[in-house]
Amino acid sequence: DSELKKEDLQRIIELMDGFKASKALFTSSKMGVFDLLQTRPGLDAAQVAQELKASVKGTECLLEACVALGLLKSKGRTGQSPMYENTHLATRFLLSDAPLSLQGYIRHCNDTVWPLFSHLESAVQDGSNQREKAFGKKSQDVFQDTYYNSKEVKLRFMNAMHSIAKVTGKAVATAFDLSKFKTACDIGGCTGAMAYEFTKAHPKLSVTVFDLPAVVEMSEHFHPLHTDNRVSFVAGDFFKDELPKADLYILARILHDWPDEKVHLLLSKIADACTPGCAVLIAETMLDGQTPYSALQSLNMLAQTDGTERTESQYADLLSKHGFRETRVVHTWNFLDAFIAIKIKRICLIA
Ligand code: SAM
Repeated sequence: DSELKKEDLQRIIELMDGFKASKALFTSSKMGVFDLLQTRPGLDAAQVAQELKASVKGTECLLEACVALGLLKSKGRTGQSPMYENTHLATRFLLSDAPLSLQGYIRHCNDTVWPLFSHLESAVQDGSNQREKAFGKKSQDVFQDTYYNSKEVKLRFMNAMHSIAKVTGKAVATAFDLSKFKTACDIGGCTGAMAYEFTKAHPKLSVTVFDLPAVVEMSEHFHPLHTDNRVSFVAGDFFKDELPKADLYILARILHDWPDEKVHLLLSKIADACTPGCAVLIAETMLDGQTPYSALQSLNMLAQTDGTERTESQYADLLSKHGFRETRVVHTWNFLDAFIAIKIKRICLIA
């Protein structure tokens, strides 16, 4: 039918404008708007501009966009310019020191994912990541060649992982009854944020975080107090070095970084370290053909890595080739879904 429907037009405008909303969020977060208005609520645009050392015209525009997006509230005053303060959403997620701060991930989206997405068309055409086009450097391994080359980029990436792991960690750690496991190894566990959520949720569990030396040497930076002695760190390369022994192997946002061959290499090493009854717990967003989050995240993996997001049955299939069965999945509604599989017996169908 040829009649124009209001909701159709609104939906398509919303999709076309999605990038503007994202960039307004990234920019206000990076410029420190929310931290400023938390300590000094009620500033007007000229005062915010002065504090941020930005133009009044630009700041007015940005603050009004934040109001329209539900990140700020404004109070009008007759004859005077409006005063701004944070909404609940901003206080919860956008302050640098909020327990569930997403600032680290937002920064990564702005500085890393945004440039990669500007080459999405090439990514689709070539079927491969766009790191060289976006960052001007050839890179074989996204971590060792792109993120860990400079201390600044490494810390930015670690902050990004830390923020998502803190928000989603509890949902993943409590998705299954893990009471029979005494030791876990968080493979590629980065800052340890997920490991700490596991020990918090399971008082008898100890977790070894296994990650590259470049990451482990910075982990103190994220947990200066070392309040939990059930979390320890071991440095190594999970494709080359021996993995720490554990009853439970956690793989949070690891498999989506790699193509199937590399996933098989890692799973075969884990399977070798496992005895029957040991388990693998995967935390990833599962492609379900319905929600945009996992499908868009898969585009992100395409542009950024050599991996992809996968469906529940793809994970089950990859794991079954290494003797992991009895799979169960919990959709957490948070960033990551949780998937567990138990080691049945020693088999490997991969040549
Ligand atoms: N598991 C963490 C989480 O969910 O927040 C971090 C996920 S991040 C996408 C991937 C992690 O794998 C990074 O911490 C990275 O340093 C680590 N990693 C990548 N290649 C590795 C390797 N060859 N050996 C050990 N760790 C590796």
